[in-house]
Amino acid sequence: MKLIKGIIINPFEDFSVKLWQSGALAIEKGKIAECGNFKDLSNKFPNAEILDFQNSVIIPGLIDMHTHLPQFTAMGLGNGELISWLESYIFPLESKFTDEKFAREQSEIFFDRLLRRGTTSAVIYSAPHKLACDIAFEVAKEKKIRAFIGKTMMDKNSPKGLIATAEQNIADSIELAKKWHNDGKMQYVLTPRFAIACSAELMKMTAEVAALDGLFVQTHLSENLNEIAQVKKLFPDFSSYTEVYDKLGILTERTLLAHCVHLSDNEIEIIKRRDSIAVHCPASNKFLSSGIMPAKKYLKENVNLAIGSDVAGGYSQSLLNEAMEAVECSKLYSVLIEKQPILSPRESLCLATIKAAEHLKISDTVGNFASGKSADIAVFDLPDYLQADLLSEDEIISSIIYNIDNRIAKAVFIDGELYKSNNTRGYDEKL
Ligand SMILES: [Zn+2]
Repeated sequence: MKLIKGIIINPFEDFSVKLWQSGALAIEKGKIAECGNFKDLSNKFPNAEILDFQNSVIIPGLIDMHTHLPQFTAMGLGNGELISWLESYIFPLESKFTDEKFAREQSEIFFDRLLRRGTTSAVIYSAPHKLACDIAFEVAKEKKIRAFIGKTMMDKNSPKGLIATAEQNIADSIELAKKWHNDGKMQYVLTPRFAIACSAELMKMTAEVAALDGLFVQTHLSENLNEIAQVKKLFPDFSSYTEVYDKLGILTERTLLAHCVHLSDNEIEIIKRRDSIAVHCPASNKFLSSGIMPAKKYLKENVNLAIGSDVAGGYSQSLLNEAMEAVECSKLYSVLIEKQPILSPRESLCLATIKAAEHLKISDTVGNFASGKSADIAVFDLPDYLQADLLSEDEIISSIIYNIDNRIAKAVFIDGELYKSNNTRGYDEKL
């Protein structure tokens, strides 16, 4: 038994949180035994080893609902919009992942960077090559991160080295799913990139395999106005981008739809009817000049919502950064587009933890500090000029989300074990 002591924040599905200024997590055999007041727990477990993080804030491991492994070295590069940026920066980068050594090195760095920023679960697009996806799973397993990964599928309108026939894409995906799906903490996600790069045939086959094997599907939807216009041209018989996915059978309660920036009311209704999940990627939407998702409006209308870094459209692998961007973009939406209530830091933190777990159907295992869940934990320092005991619950949450000077976690625990970075700069790195 060990007690991890500090300022504990425990988020819940109804967007409430419970905070203990002098709190502790009792950990046994990699699971949360109890969460509460330090004094009570130290009396209850007098022989426990105590790891004292003093005034650091302890939150559940963050859950990134949308990111691209092969792209992280392109963060912050380029200034184009989606399609031209993909062509100039991303497709050339993803083409390099046929090199096994390169794919392994990049995967190691990618997962290490995620973990050091407190992300202990992530939903990931690998490069479009089977081997690169296989390596991504291998490295994720070695690092003990909870990973939902899929080989990016494209069968048209993309460079030759990145596309394969619909049949080949599906055959490769089935092979990878057989090898990795439910191998410990790994899940396979069917990953048609977006409607521009995928034929109707590929999407129909995706829907069939997903239904048969109960797999999650991830794709992009309604990110950018030029993208939407192209989809309209490519699929003239469908009334909207969302209808393309819906009529081809892709939309279910296990479908993650990144962006959802420019949806009509009718499209929002389709997503709600199918119980699919809209993944908010606010930094990426700013970087690629795509627009602003009406996140708070979606929440009010009971659309399933989550947060993703969308690296490298997004320019940070920190989900705390993304949680901050979500709040800031909500303000911009209200000022510039349509007056709306503002997404709060508390709501944003819940989206980045327990709500994501709920949408991935793993909330019995991770997402908060309920007894029996895996002890996936991230510890962050507050800015040293703040005195935590003078701050309210919401002020502490806000301070953590906005603490852009320190996006690197002070410590990260996976299944109760301290994650040790193989990066020689370790936790001292301040990026
Ligand atoms: Zn993306």
